[in-house]
Amino acid sequence: MPLSYSQLQTYRTCPRQYEYAFVKKLDRPLSAEESFGSSMHNTLKKWGEREKEGSRQKAVGSDQLHLFTGDTTQQDSDFCLLTSDHLHSLWHQSFIVEGYASRIEADFQRKVGEQILQHFFAWWEQESRVVVGVESSFKYQLGDGSETLTGRLDRVERTLKGLRIIDFKTGQPRTQEQCDSDLQLSIYALAAKQIYEEPVDELILLFLNEEGITERRTHRNESQLRDAEKSITSLITRIQEKDFAPTPSFPVCSRCPYKGICDVAAA
Ligand code: SF4
Repeated sequence: MPLSYSQLQTYRTCPRQYEYAFVKKLDRPLSAEESFGSSMHNTLKKWGEREKEGSRQKAVGSDQLHLFTGDTTQQDSDFCLLTSDHLHSLWHQSFIVEGYASRIEADFQRKVGEQILQHFFAWWEQESRVVVGVESSFKYQLGDGSETLTGRLDRVERTLKGLRIIDFKTGQPRTQEQCDSDLQLSIYALAAKQIYEEPVDELILLFLNEEGITERRTHRNESQLRDAEKSITSLITRIQEKDFAPTPSFPVCSRCPYKGICDVAAA
């Protein structure tokens, strides 16, 4: 039975949270944080798809190289849509109103998203970009192929040095050390290598916040990827053995959707 990366991540957060969500399949409300993250991912997915369709290198600036193939009219149209106004409009088309405590809170978060996307646009237009994948789904075969891990790569760009995997985050930025040891990025490096059959040059966690964009770049070597495979295999084994011992802590439990029913939730 394939396991998704988000299931694995839930298990790492707290095994009992995994048990509630994926074994007992308890209903849980959509949180404001999740709703906002989904709205942002949906917006950037549409934006990346538009970039791919236009086979473009840069949306603004007269000194940019534009690459077009096929139907020029359609691609010109795609190219013209790569503006900050269009990004703004994609945000409002993609905004999910569910998950917020009130209409006022939802409207406030809409404004926050507008601000974040202005920062994103400024980050994005700093260089020519060749997008080769947007929300690319993967099925990564582990080791001997007996286990499969599924997931999605938010954005894959091709640079002169190889592939660049970008993962969007709407939470607070993590430290460089945390990104250097991030298991999710290691999984993405393994999966991208398998999908695209070419080297992954760099991995980026892009933190999108009202205050600005924080880019954390990191790399993985073969030894780190082997270690990541071992960690994933060990987690899958624990799940198969039904090791759902809870790991309560205030920061985790305070954001857990099951804290109301969990008898060991940290208060
Ligand atoms: S409340 Fe805490 S201990 Fe309980 S399931 Fe959630 S994260 Fe785990």
